[in-house]
Amino acid sequence: MTGAPPGFAVLVVGAGFAGLYAHHRLRALGLTIQGFEAAADVGGTWWWNRYPGARCDVESMDYCYSFSPELEQDWTWSERYATQPEILRYLNHVADRFDLRRDIQFDTRVTAATWDEAAQRWRVVTDRGDRVSAQFLVMATGCLSQAKDPEIDGIETFDGEIFHTGRWPHEGVDFTGRRVGVIGTGSSGIQSIPVIARQAAHLTVFQRTPNFTMPAKNAPLDQQAIADRKARAREIREAMRASRAGIVVPMPEHSALGVDDESREALYARAWDTGTLYGMVAAFNDLLINRDANDTAAEYVRARIRSIVDDPEVAERLSPRNHPFGTKRPCLDTDYYATYNRENVTLVDVRETPIVAVTPTGVRTSADDFELDAIVFATGFDAMTGPLLGPDFTGAHGRKLRDRWAAGPRTYLGIATAGFPNLFIVTGPGSPSVLVNMAVAIEHHVDWMADCIAYLRQRGLASIDATTEAEDAWVDHVNEVANVTLFPHANSWYMGANVPGKPRVFMPYIGGFPRYDDVCRGVAADDYRGFTLTPATSPEPAPST
Ligand code: FAD
Ligand code: NAP
Repeated sequence: MTGAPPGFAVLVVGAGFAGLYAHHRLRALGLTIQGFEAAADVGGTWWWNRYPGARCDVESMDYCYSFSPELEQDWTWSERYATQPEILRYLNHVADRFDLRRDIQFDTRVTAATWDEAAQRWRVVTDRGDRVSAQFLVMATGCLSQAKDPEIDGIETFDGEIFHTGRWPHEGVDFTGRRVGVIGTGSSGIQSIPVIARQAAHLTVFQRTPNFTMPAKNAPLDQQAIADRKARAREIREAMRASRAGIVVPMPEHSALGVDDESREALYARAWDTGTLYGMVAAFNDLLINRDANDTAAEYVRARIRSIVDDPEVAERLSPRNHPFGTKRPCLDTDYYATYNRENVTLVDVRETPIVAVTPTGVRTSADDFELDAIVFATGFDAMTGPLLGPDFTGAHGRKLRDRWAAGPRTYLGIATAGFPNLFIVTGPGSPSVLVNMAVAIEHHVDWMADCIAYLRQRGLASIDATTEAEDAWVDHVNEVANVTLFPHANSWYMGANVPGKPRVFMPYIGGFPRYDDVCRGVAADDYRGFTLTPATSPEPAPST
């Protein structure tokens, strides 16, 4: 872009599930839009995370858009849990079908955004030297888009190749005949380890915290299931939106402590066999709030691990004991535990023998040197706040977002943050986001924001800003509901615990999707209660369309 800084109505940062829908929805309002995306194309998560075994763990037919009934009827998923390439094909199809690429500038990262109080607009700068302004700024930058390397000495000295699951090479990686090390056993590690083990000469897994994972029971979708689903698509979508986690799940009625051992065991066995994330978590109504109840689920999974893994010592090392079941995000896997029965797989507990350094030839722990040709960092993300604190945000009165959030993120509804007018965050901290089916959360947020922008423009209002009172009350509520649960007991990325120095705050909203939706609707119906709306100072708002 050259010449005078161009002005737009809306700037959308990110082109994953959220950014793409934001373009579609905001364009329908007749607004001028500029999109920026750091990646070379659309897809977000599914553009970046191309590691072996990457797939969704919310069922494909639920993990997709609902905004277009025609799209829903025309697109057919091939597997219960779609692979990364298939999800990326879907997002490309959506981008083509709705002509969404035309306003997006790829390979461009937003590096700074400053609120211009006089003009009531955002002035935005990118790493390619673009300078643009917009009345509204939509951060569709994702909760899990900033990959995080481990803090280990000597990484730069390694003579072999290093990969991060969240920045996987597009041409793929062939591990045949190579000695591979994987560091990390969250969802990305758990999905990739069985696939890498089948290819590599030898695989060494460096585990800091064993996670709870359940079999995905993935399979091709049969024609009848697809036809049934399509016939009931609208009805199911409504039920999803009314459900606690954006997925239709039968609500449990019983406490895990209120049934006898045999019934409890039978229920867990059924839940295990559902091949879903929620099966076990929703087996009883108190697993996430009562430690004794939770222990029964944790012990059930540990017994399953012992029944799968041949070597009792390895089984014990794989058994989670330092956090309650479900309080770090649980995982779905294909053959994860059985992979440790392979001759070519070694599990190293790096709590017992910590990693000391990466050396030119491999990984050194306090007990051993492991010679490796390649290392995979499955070490996760600076989740939720990372992508929002990356750019240098300056709000009203010159206040920096990094300073305002120094003790943890502060938002109203997870959508807005006080002192940063006209800034909308999709699935921000303080919203249900990562605790629910994100396709549902994303559509919800984008719809709410688009309605809000339409409201402001119809009334000739220049800006909307959350009040600190409303924000404080919301932050208190988010903490209050989190503290009723066992979630704060785990050192999870939900708590920011995976990033040294990050404030320990439970970031997502765990009050459930319907409750959250009710609040959002109420706020809008009440003329945006908790926000300050400012009229344009001149009869004409700043040039924006
Ligand atoms: P993203 O897809 O993360 O897209 C954000 C985009 O913003 C990225 O492309 C990034 O490059 C861009 N961006 C960020 N900052 C900037 C900047 N400053 N300037 C320019 N561009 C920027 N959720 C589920 O509900 N179900 C699942 O099964 C599921 N599986 C997952 C599997 C993996 C491997 C991962 C990592 C996450 C998974 N998630 C899942 C969560 C997933 O992130 C969301 O479901 C969804 O894809 C998020 O979409 P988004 O558009 O909000 O963000
Ligand atoms: P993650 O859950 O944060 O896991 C990272 C792993 O790396 C953890 O086991 C962590 O150990 C370990 N680790 C980090 N730094 C380390 C170090 N210095 N030394 C040793 N180990 C270290 O990240 P992720 O697996 O990428 O998943 C993140 C989220 O993305 C998931 O929770 C999920 O929401 C989403 N996701 C979903 C799927 C899916 O199945 N659809 C797949 C991938 C990702 P600690 O636990 O001790 O910190």
